Amino acid sequence: MAYAYDDQNIFAKILRGEIPNDTVLETAHTLAFNDIAPQAPHHVLVIPKGAYVTHDHFAEDASDAEIADFTRVVNEICKRLGIRPGDGGEGYRLISNAGEAGVQEVPHYHMHILSGRPLGRMLKKAD
Ligand code: AMP
Repeated sequence: MAYAYDDQNIFAKILRGEIPNDTVLETAHTLAFNDIAPQAPHHVLVIPKGAYVTHDHFAEDASDAEIADFTRVVNEICKRLGIRPGDGGEGYRLISNAGEAGVQEVPHYHMHILSGRPLGRMLKKAD
């Protein structure tokens, strides 16, 4: 598996502080910020600070510390938003698009956290 990371992608620019973001939570390895074009009342993006393109790239090459931190940041945001079913919250959806079939627009690994409205079924049937 080989990935060429494009360090001119928009999330790389956010991580370098070259463009602003609406930060929700930041840790040593992870940044979470509100999506600029939200598709639900809660739409947060969680990204690792390291240069990873997709989930598979992250899972193969990131350290255990990075992976644990990322996973726990996703949870912490769900907790703070009050959307965890175990807390009586309404629930949420996690999406990570990868590559062409996944219609990934930004080639820096990210997890979408979506909640705040009924989200419908996961996928429409193919046209
Ligand atoms: P994806 O299609 O999974 O690559 O999603 C990329 C997401 O990044 C989209 O939901 C965009 O709205 C979002 N996005 C693009 N530029 C920015 C930005 N500058 N700040 C926050 N979110 C952004």
